Parts: sequence; structure tokens; C-alpha cells
Amino acid sequence: MKKDRHFIPLKPHLYNDFACPECGAPAPRSIRAMVLGKQTAAEYECLACGLIFVRDLPAGFTIDVPFAFRSQDKHPYHPPNGPAEDWPAYPAYQVPLTDRYNVQRKVFKECKRIIILNTIDHLYGHVLLKLLNAQHYLDNHPDIGLVVIVPRMFEWLVPEGVAESWVFDIKLKQAWGWNAGIDAFVQEQWDRYEEIYLAPGYSHPDFTRIDIERFTRIEPFRLEDYLKVPPLITFVTRHDRLWYASPLTKFMHRALRKIGVFPNIAVWMQDRMVAGTIRKVRKRLPGAKFAVVGLGHPNGMPEGVEDLRTMRMDLDTELDWCRVYAKSQVVVGVHGSNMILPTAHAAGCVEILPYDRYGNMVQDLSVRYKDRMQLFMYRFTDEFASPRYVARHVVSMFKDYEVYRIDNQVNIF
Ligand SMILES: [Zn+2]
Repeated sequence: MKKDRHFIPLKPHLYNDFACPECGAPAPRSIRAMVLGKQTAAEYECLACGLIFVRDLPAGFTIDVPFAFRSQDKHPYHPPNGPAEDWPAYPAYQVPLTDRYNVQRKVFKECKRIIILNTIDHLYGHVLLKLLNAQHYLDNHPDIGLVVIVPRMFEWLVPEGVAESWVFDIKLKQAWGWNAGIDAFVQEQWDRYEEIYLAPGYSHPDFTRIDIERFTRIEPFRLEDYLKVPPLITFVTRHDRLWYASPLTKFMHRALRKIGVFPNIAVWMQDRMVAGTIRKVRKRLPGAKFAVVGLGHPNGMPEGVEDLRTMRMDLDTELDWCRVYAKSQVVVGVHGSNMILPTAHAAGCVEILPYDRYGNMVQDLSVRYKDRMQLFMYRFTDEFASPRYVARHVVSMFKDYEVYRIDNQVNIF
């Protein structure tokens, strides 16, 4: 089988390069791989002490902290490097869910050697980030068929060239749980292949090497056009994670929301801040155009702003928004997975970064440049930045662009 750290062997040899969590004996006997939803694990038997247990495979978000548990009673074993998430203890994992979902196996190319990329996850951004791993295998390992396990709502992002896609009608929240139905489907496919690997599904791919057009079929903004086309600034808004004017507003909104009073008042205030930013940018960049996207109701924007917000998400909306990002020099929004596709298509961004997200900084941005342009094109503001502050960054990204680019891309060795 292939010896490559980006390939976890599943068949004929199933990964067992670790010690028994009970007695420390090396290389337990592997029994079978299990795809439970977001978790990919395997069952093992220790030939020294007889322990039968399940352990995370080194993939997805448990890649460095694999959790194991005794099959008989779910007794937990944490990895030597620290505590791991005891996922089998959660209620959704207590009784296996037998729902088979509606699943389609789409075959584009018959392959006997495959690598499975399991993108199922309960968080939107995680599915997307894992799916971007596809490019590595398509480009570097054409001899092995890539099989993508994907929730239906992400199928449109599956790139050309995959051998198969296994498309599940599964909602994000259903990915969280012991999905015996998904596992049963996967087991039924097992005998079709001679060699099977699992892709680790890294969460933070190097975006400078990702060609987003292969996923969305939309060409991203070309940096050489930055000053050639009229400025377009797109605001990416959320109604569940807001841009607040002050700590007091945030506190008051959260308190009021708990008791169900004025639940939308902070959304209205956010709209006012977005509109205020637009007015301030307009004063300095009179020719600029603006768009607003996100789940929400179109409301309260100054005249001439293209307000593309909607509460009805479908493929046409996804594509409309991506086309707008791809025409935008700058996208503005609060940190979160809502920024992955906007920054993958736009030239740069201004991101409002909440304090509790400092540890996740840049993980939601599709950073497109390797050089010092990164710092110029991806800007962060305080959680409670004023419209004036955000507008100042946006304006700078146009007014200072050319001199900065020449100094840092042309007048260097
Ligand atoms: Zn043992």
C-alpha cells in the first residue's frame, strides 16, 4: 500500500500504528473501519490484553487527539498528549441512529484503488474546508480514485475529476451522532475496491494553492483588475453573530434575546452600522458600488446598494452571492465560516474579529497571497469597531493600493 502521511490505510491493511490504550502493547489487531457521520473511527482488538475498543482514525478535527473507548461499556481512553473530546458520551452517540438517509452513489470513473474524503460535519465551515482537500489528491495522485462523501447541500462544490461522490441527504446537525445508517452504506461498498485509504481532511488548507474556480465554477477577482474596475464593496452579514456598536449593546441584546424581547433590535442596529459605513466610504470613493449578502431580510440600506439578503437559501442564491464576491475588491464581515467563500472569490477583506475568536484568527479567510500583500489585503478590526474605523480601512485598501503593491511586489529582489 501507499506510504504517504496524507493517506490513512483502510484496506487491505487497516491503520493500527499506535499502542493499546489499556496495556500499551503495540499494533492492535484491526477489525473494521467505521464511518459514523463526522467521526471516522475503527474497531480493534489488543492481542496482548484482549481489549476490544473503538478509536478515532487520525482524520478531521480529532487528528491530533484521537479518542478511544472500550466497545463493551464505552469506558473512555484519552490520548497521551491530553484530554480528547469524549464524543461517545454525548446523548446523540448513545443509541446508534439507523436512518439510511437518501444516498446516491455517483460513479464518474471506475477505480479499484480509492481514497475516501469524508466531508460530513455538523458545521458548515468544516464541511467546506474538508472538501477543499480534494484538490491535493486530484492533482498529485491521479492513479488513485478520489471518493468524496458529501452532504447534498455541498454537492455543487464537488470538483471535476473525482472518481465517485456519495451524496447523503443529511442535515448539518444530523452529522453529530452515531449514524449506523451511513456506516452500513459504506460497509456495503467495501468489497468493490482492492485498496482503500482515508484522507485526513485537514481543516486549514493552504489557500494560496487552492483553485476555488474548480469548486464553485466561478473565477475569483483578478488582482490585476483591482484598480481597473469600479470599486465594489460587499458586506457579508449574519443575524446570528452580529457586529455590535459597544459591549453594552452586546450585553443588552443577549439579555433581551434570552427573555424574547426585541430579538431583532441588534440586527436593526447592525443594519444601521453597515449603512453608516457605506455612507462614509461613499464620501471618499464616490464611484464605489456596494452589495449586502447574508441570511436576513433586505432592509435599511442607502439608495443604490444591491441588497441580496434572503432567508431562502438555495443553489441560485449561493451562486449569485459567489458572483458578487468575485466582482468585489473588498468584502466586509464578522469572523466566521461565512467569510470562507467571500474571501476565496474577492480580492481582500476587512474582518470584524470578536474577542473570543482570536484563537481562530484567519482560519475563516481564504488567504490568496503569499507575500506582504496578505497584511494589506486582509485587515482585522476590533469587535466593537465603529463604522468610521471600518470605512477608513476600506478606503485605504483602494487609495493606498498602488503604491503599496509596487513597493512590495515590484521594487524588490
Ligand atoms: Zn492491550
